[in-house]
Amino acid sequence: MRLSIIYKAQCSETDKFYIGSTYNLYNRKKVHKSKDNKAESRHLINPTYTILKEFYTINRKHKHELEQEYMDLNKSDDMVNKFRASGFDYEKRKLYMVQYHKEHQKERIERDNKNREKIRARNKIKGERKVNCPKCNKEMRYDSLSKHLKKKVPCV
Ligand SMILES: [Zn+2]
Repeated sequence: MRLSIIYKAQCSETDKFYIGSTYNLYNRKKVHKSKDNKAESRHLINPTYTILKEFYTINRKHKHELEQEYMDLNKSDDMVNKFRASGFDYEKRKLYMVQYHKEHQKERIERDNKNREKIRARNKIKGERKVNCPKCNKEMRYDSLSKHLKKKVPCV
């Protein structure tokens, strides 16, 4: 048995909301905020979280069934959940998540590459900086210094 939380995340700027379930609301909030959030809740702006109910559940399926109950209870045009949490749509939802992940893989890779380029550029600038050897005072590039200090024949 695990304590499960059924929650409602409501957009601060529109009436749109998302019903979800989680074992850990704190972690779940972090996922909702992250750029890789695959759930339908990603369009909610700065959402407010309300705990609708806490249950002990026997497994994931059970948790999703309860989530579904609360989706049915709160059903409205403002609800952003596209898929049923349990039953037939559950498989569809999983497929949707996989598809979403695939479609956004390119964006994610590009973002990572851009970050890497930034770091590389920063290191290059650092490496090209001129420094003086602390021993012989010879001027050289920062990235040559460690090699210079390790030379078999010491500089001094
Ligand atoms: Zn030196």
